[in-house]
Amino acid sequence: MLDFDTCNDARLRRDPAYDGLFFTAVRTTGIYCRPMCPVKHPLTKNVSYYPTAAAAERAGYRPCLRCRPETAPFCPAWKGTRTTVERALKMIEGGALDRGSVDELATDLGVGGRHLSRLFAQHVGASPIQTAQTLRIGRAKRLMDETILSLTEIAFQAGFGSVRSFNASFLKLYGRPPSAMRRPRPS
Ligand SMILES: [Zn+2]
Repeated sequence: MLDFDTCNDARLRRDPAYDGLFFTAVRTTGIYCRPMCPVKHPLTKNVSYYPTAAAAERAGYRPCLRCRPETAPFCPAWKGTRTTVERALKMIEGGALDRGSVDELATDLGVGGRHLSRLFAQHVGASPIQTAQTLRIGRAKRLMDETILSLTEIAFQAGFGSVRSFNASFLKLYGRPPSAMRRPRPS
């Protein structure tokens, strides 16, 4: 994880080079953002920084509706080190935990389930399940904004097991159901 001053300077510059490297959480609003969010800068004393969107969500923050941090590219600060976590993230991005369990994923990676969870706590700041959930919601949000698929089709394409869990995940994260968040299509 980058240090506070590095993150803070990048945030104040709205530096796009740091997109995905850290996420800014704002205590006063309960929202977290990407570094180049166009919204007015919060005061430095009110912000904290997280290495991943999943970590910010685990800490209780909701994604900003302007910069959509939950759809930021997944490039943790330690990218480049060929680690089990990096491979696990790719497999989770590919839907490994939409179909299978954490133990199955760990077995595919040649490690134990507990070890994998520890590595995630250390490097990602969230469990594999929380990470998969964040990625699923990001996929669904992109499909909602960029396609004319029905919400039911989006739920399954994004990897949710049912429309009910799709709705529940959105309610929990955004405080409103997916149907209330769909943007009108530009004509
Ligand atoms: Zn934002």
